[in-house]
Amino acid sequence: MDQSQIEFRNVSFRYQEDMPWVLRNVSFTIGADEWVAIIGHNGSGKSTIAKLMNGLLFPQEGKILVDGEEVTQDTLWEIRKRVGMVFQNPDNQFVGTTVRDDVAFGMENHGMPREVMIKRIKESLNAVGMTEFERHEPHRLSGGQKQRVAIASVLAVSPRYIILDEATAMLDPKGRKEILKTIRTVQDERELSLITITHDLQEVTQAERVIVMNGGEVWMQGTPRDIFSKKESLIEIGLDTPFVSKLADHMKDAGLELSREPLNHQELLEELW
Ligand code: ADP
Repeated sequence: MDQSQIEFRNVSFRYQEDMPWVLRNVSFTIGADEWVAIIGHNGSGKSTIAKLMNGLLFPQEGKILVDGEEVTQDTLWEIRKRVGMVFQNPDNQFVGTTVRDDVAFGMENHGMPREVMIKRIKESLNAVGMTEFERHEPHRLSGGQKQRVAIASVLAVSPRYIILDEATAMLDPKGRKEILKTIRTVQDERELSLITITHDLQEVTQAERVIVMNGGEVWMQGTPRDIFSKKESLIEIGLDTPFVSKLADHMKDAGLELSREPLNHQELLEELW
């Protein structure tokens, strides 16, 4: 049986015993090569899910399995090799004085041999289109470039899953576009699952599947088309941004919510941008 997936099995979590549950009985799977977006209003539990996925936190109830292996203190390092994370603030992710040092850092932590590291630095910078910046100082890069380096650092460890937790939130539209293009290319070229946690509904349309969180529970799952065709429901849980309305109306006008044709996300996005 192919066990390549992240599975949340009835996961409940709270930060402290005397505090309310932040996640309640959350179950879902993320398969190999899938792109899943997790959305929901502030405080709905998205970042907590991300942290549970790579063992920054552990659930009090239920299980999280990565490729069939439970995330525990004992499996942590192996899990972190498989599940990479890119965070919101690009400036908090740099430790080295050059881009190259930064990309090497994660691999050093995993004790990779030097020859492998040299090869992977080149490959991963190439994958995010940052080859010519190898000797540059990270803090001088633009926001979008910094996030591309952060993605390269994660790619260098050769994970099967990459979580981008609000990774485009601090970027300007140009930087955001850059990152979306980068992750789309990377996912096309490698066997990778992407989990994007985002407030940016433009990002969501690119995913194959969307998980909507509400009050610590999985509230809805489906294709972007399924989700956006339920505009009223999204508004009900506080996701009433002008974008939801605009996109939902656009889909309705185009008869997309009724169509069985695959939605061309790219065309739609280019039109909206
Ligand atoms: P989201 O990513 O959807 O905004 P989070 O997972 O960050 O949601 O937060 C879910 C809930 O957990 C919120 O009520 C938040 O206040 C609480 N929370 C998050 N981090 C901590 C923490 N370190 N300690 C205590 N409560 C926290």
